Amino acid sequence: MYEYVETWCVEVMFRSGPKISTRWDDPDAYEGQYPPDWDARRRAVYQRDNYTCQQCGRRSGPHAGANGAVLHAHHQTPLSQGGWNHLGNLVTVCQRCHDQTHGHPTGRGYTGREYNGVRAIQTAAKLIRRIVRRLS
Ligand SMILES: [Zn+2]
Ligand SMILES: [Zn+2]
Repeated sequence: MYEYVETWCVEVMFRSGPKISTRWDDPDAYEGQYPPDWDARRRAVYQRDNYTCQQCGRRSGPHAGANGAVLHAHHQTPLSQGGWNHLGNLVTVCQRCHDQTHGHPTGRGYTGREYNGVRAIQTAAKLIRRIVRRLS
């Protein structure tokens, strides 16, 4: 019973998409604008940059909660100019700065609410574990 609950929680937490694979660094390796592991990639970039816009310093995620800046991962060398998707070419910017950089509205943002969702699942998992421990 204990193991079953544990497995279920882990599965829920990691269902959000494939892990980062270096084979998707190369934009020629897949169809379309974003690599299949884009969600994992941008999250890794936000985490590395402390959920902070590297242009204006506004914050999101664990620091600013649901009301923080909407974050985007921006290609420093654009894919159209030979840039790749590896993390060294990606930088955290807020939506406002990103729109300014490109001169047009940009998409696929990250809000603190996403982070809060993961935290809610972790809290629930902890609660279930405590209940199971008491029952067994
Ligand atoms: Zn900014
Ligand atoms: Zn960009």
